[in-house]
Amino acid sequence: MRYENTLAAARSLDAQDPLRHFRKQFIFPSHTDSLTLGETISMGSPGRNDIRYFCGNSLGLQPKAIRQALLNELDQWAEHGVEGHFRGEYPWMHYHKFLTQQTARLVGALPHEVVVMNTLTVNLHLMMASFYRPTSTRYKIVMEAGAFPSDQYAMESQARWHGLDPETAIVEVTPRDGEEVLRTEDILQVIEDQGESVALVMFSGVNYYTGQFYDLESITKAGHHVGAKVGFDLAHAAGNLPMKLHDWGPDFAVWCSYKYLNSGPGGPSGAFIHERHANAPDLPRFAGWWGHDEAERFKMKKGFHPMYGAEGWQLSNAQIFSFAAHKASLDIFDAAGIENLRAKSLRLTAFMEQVLTEADGGRNLFKVITPSAPTQRGCQMSLLTDDRGKAIFDFLAENGIIADWREPNVIRFAPVPLYNSFEDVFMLGEKIKAYKG
Ligand SMILES: *Cc1c(COP(=O)(O)O)cnc(C)c1O
Repeated sequence: MRYENTLAAARSLDAQDPLRHFRKQFIFPSHTDSLTLGETISMGSPGRNDIRYFCGNSLGLQPKAIRQALLNELDQWAEHGVEGHFRGEYPWMHYHKFLTQQTARLVGALPHEVVVMNTLTVNLHLMMASFYRPTSTRYKIVMEAGAFPSDQYAMESQARWHGLDPETAIVEVTPRDGEEVLRTEDILQVIEDQGESVALVMFSGVNYYTGQFYDLESITKAGHHVGAKVGFDLAHAAGNLPMKLHDWGPDFAVWCSYKYLNSGPGGPSGAFIHERHANAPDLPRFAGWWGHDEAERFKMKKGFHPMYGAEGWQLSNAQIFSFAAHKASLDIFDAAGIENLRAKSLRLTAFMEQVLTEADGGRNLFKVITPSAPTQRGCQMSLLTDDRGKAIFDFLAENGIIADWREPNVIRFAPVPLYNSFEDVFMLGEKIKAYKG
């Protein structure tokens, strides 16, 4: 489908958007040196200036509700001191449980399959402590080439931790010559070819650089078919796309909450551990008191007995302030519905793809490397540029477009359905047209 690429048409799409009201629940950054060009156009009250924010894949915008949520916890502490663990609307003692239902809905899991704890890379290591158990014959990790650096370092250090050489233990799946993204068939073939040497298949859900959404169900099947464990890093998928983790069946998944989930810088991580491992007290893990059977958590006895399900992987008591922010943000996701967000996202991303292409106008300023198939992407567009790339990026930044630059030569834009508008996307196109490089 082709969209009419005019301001009036973009505004009309916004007027018909059933999710348009959510934009008002977010605070848009303002900078004063923005919008040196053109008219000032505002829709509703997006912010003090006309900033077009496309960085929700890096740090989601602040939900207005978070301020009060944090104040509530400060009040709870002020009023009750240590008794805050047991009193108030959300006693701290059980705080992680207040996040469970919403988290499960968000990623398509059963409630006992998810827990919010720690931060992402920490959880990745905790999951690997349980699910990467190399032997002399089955020891390899199959992952995508060009994974997020933290994941690369995690895999590499896990291999070394087990006395293995990452060069031989890690098998990366790379795009074909002349291609930028992976073909599912190639991923499945590598897993099949590596066969019984594979201990773990570890992929991101959406690749941070290209924006490619992998076929997680097929990857899970292929991994399990060769007898490997399967794990996913959903940092760029959680809150971006609906998922069915329970049905797809990976052994574990982890994600962060400060990108599409808008829970603030350094926000807590979520973890999924499939039900098949829910009652596995013998599965090796790094334990802490919060993972211990809650009925006797405070008996201070020797001998670790894990909680049933994902809660059995917790180490520490809840980080109340960041969890409170996360909860306020999850409330918004619940109100919007991830399926509704996806429906809008499909249209908004398609519109952006068209706007970008038309704004380039045959100048070959960039090439979109994110897959064009909607099933293979969420709400991110990655543009591969050449030596003009940084100048284009800087020009856009000076003109109120907040995007991000990834070395060596990619500009990423995320049209986030919760708070971005069709008008935002239209205006991005106008700024690109105004670039005369
Ligand atoms: C953002 C991101 C991270 C960041 O990890 P933290 O532990 O939260 O700092 C890790 N992995 C991926 C794939 C990411 O996108």
